[in-house]
Amino acid sequence: MPRTSATSSPVPTQPVRLTGWGRIAPSRADLAAPASDAEAVALLQYLATPPTSKSGTAIPRGLGRSYNNAAQSADGIVISSGKLNNIISFDHDTGVVEAEAGVSLEQLMVAGLPHGWFVPVSPGTRQVSIGGALAADVHGKNHHVAGSFASHVTSFDILFPSAEQGAPHTVTRESDPELFWATAGGMGLTGFITRATIQLKRVESSLVAVDTVKTKDIDETMAVLAEHDTKYGYTVAWSDDLARGKHLGRSIITSGDFATLADLNDRQRHDPFAFDPRAKLAAPKVFPPGLLNRYSIRLANTAWYLKAPRHREHELQTISQFFHPLDGIRNWNCAYGPGGFRQYQYVMPFGAEAAVRKSFELVSAQRAPSFVTVLKRFGKADPGLLSFPTAGWTLALDFPAHTRGLGSLLDELDKLVVANGGRVYLAKDSRVSAATLEEMYPRLPEFRKLRSVLDPAGVLASDLSRRLNLLRQEHRHDAPAATYRGAAGVTSCPPCGRRRTSPSARSAGSWCRRARCRSGWSPPGSRSTGR
Ligand SMILES: Cc1cc2nc3c(=O)[nH]c(=O)nc-3n(C[C@H](O)[C@H](O)[C@H](O)COP(=O)(O)OP(=O)(O)OC[C@H]3O[C@@H](n4cnc5c(N)ncnc54)[C@H](O)[C@@H]3O)c2cc1C
Repeated sequence: MPRTSATSSPVPTQPVRLTGWGRIAPSRADLAAPASDAEAVALLQYLATPPTSKSGTAIPRGLGRSYNNAAQSADGIVISSGKLNNIISFDHDTGVVEAEAGVSLEQLMVAGLPHGWFVPVSPGTRQVSIGGALAADVHGKNHHVAGSFASHVTSFDILFPSAEQGAPHTVTRESDPELFWATAGGMGLTGFITRATIQLKRVESSLVAVDTVKTKDIDETMAVLAEHDTKYGYTVAWSDDLARGKHLGRSIITSGDFATLADLNDRQRHDPFAFDPRAKLAAPKVFPPGLLNRYSIRLANTAWYLKAPRHREHELQTISQFFHPLDGIRNWNCAYGPGGFRQYQYVMPFGAEAAVRKSFELVSAQRAPSFVTVLKRFGKADPGLLSFPTAGWTLALDFPAHTRGLGSLLDELDKLVVANGGRVYLAKDSRVSAATLEEMYPRLPEFRKLRSVLDPAGVLASDLSRRLNLLRQEHRHDAPAATYRGAAGVTSCPPCGRRRTSPSARSAGSWCRRARCRSGWSPPGSRSTGR
């Protein structure tokens, strides 16, 4: 039963126990789901006047598809975008859609496909909210040509925990690049995104023309992936992580592009944008512990590999088959049993091919079973301060959490990744150390500095940010003012929304001097210190 907390949250809260998709590291919090911008404003204002929760912290949450605890805040308030799930406008001619942050990528597909528009970037599940996609700056099989999600977002609206902000602040790449690129990949720590405007991608059908190649080892896998990057818009390898010796890194590579009308037969041409998003199967709620282990996964991997054709061309696959095969089974994450599973994803730069090979050797030598092992090449990085993708090789693995020796294996992988200038993905991480992460994300100090201005009281914090010390100044309600300069075109203080109107303020450097806004924010072009 929803309740209004003792300190009277303007939005009812409900006690919940939350995990991420990997079902490890649960924590308890109060869940608040604002149903309108006005409610979200009131909630964020309330959060700025501590103590509002036991821990004094809060974090946004979308559809809970990050693997670990990025969208959890123990003993705090979790701000769900679940009720902000309306598409506000959709221009069928241009493919520009404005939608609330809780709208899922699946909703965008359902709305867009009948008019020939698809999401510009789709992760391996479409059960991802727009807010979550932007906050993790998600990538898809087309990163080498399309970049990550934020590159297709033309603007978003965001609220800070501020007693003064009376309306969401609109951010574009041009008006406020710092805030834009801190929020893209910022894992919900810069504010609560309420809506975003996205440029969708034109398609002629909802089918993908797919070519499949089965490779015999890691060298062939990398060579084919590199070649396919030059020919296809989408490409990825599923790898058998338990294969060893001369089979190390053997894979099935699927690459393709959306089919054109000319590719379709008469029946398909009759309804070229057919799309059935329903999950076909539901996993049982209770799975015996240990069902997925090195023996069952070895069998499954071998069968999967052997069943694939050596070479197949131009197979028409549905969006579900090509992009989101796992969405076909509801709650498939329960198959790992009550212990859950850990996903590990790294990217290492081009030139580190020997290290990629070494990572396969480490995993197979440890016999660490992963059914979903995906290797791909990323294109150019975007400017996101904490965005994960950078040009190079990315490998994602799913391990049952109870796997023997998993901790030391992942520590070894971390060392390899750091030594080769790579990084792990915050939306998936569950165990990297704060010190290691600092080595992986050289722009973390910039992120922390900006954050200390946007949220000086350290209200926004997640279980992930605490473990990784992403904020450094959290819990400090008396944090000293830093300076956020803003950028050309911004005329209001992001934290408190105050407009720059007074000529005297302008000549004095235009700091935001409002008594309760400690941001020290200064509009573009004004004198500024501290950065
Ligand atoms: C099967 C599967 C496949 C996946 N494949 C990929 C893939 O191919 N590529 C990829 O990049 N990722 C992939 N992911 C990860 C997933 O895309 C990201 O974790 C994404 O962020 C999840 O979105 P969500 O709505 O569930 O957000 P949540 O998991 O609820 O939250 C994720 C982060 O976003 C923040 N956030 C959520 N909503 C808001 C908001 N309104 N305002 C501000 N911050 C917000 C949260 O605080 C949190 O830090 C996959 C996940 C699964 C389960």
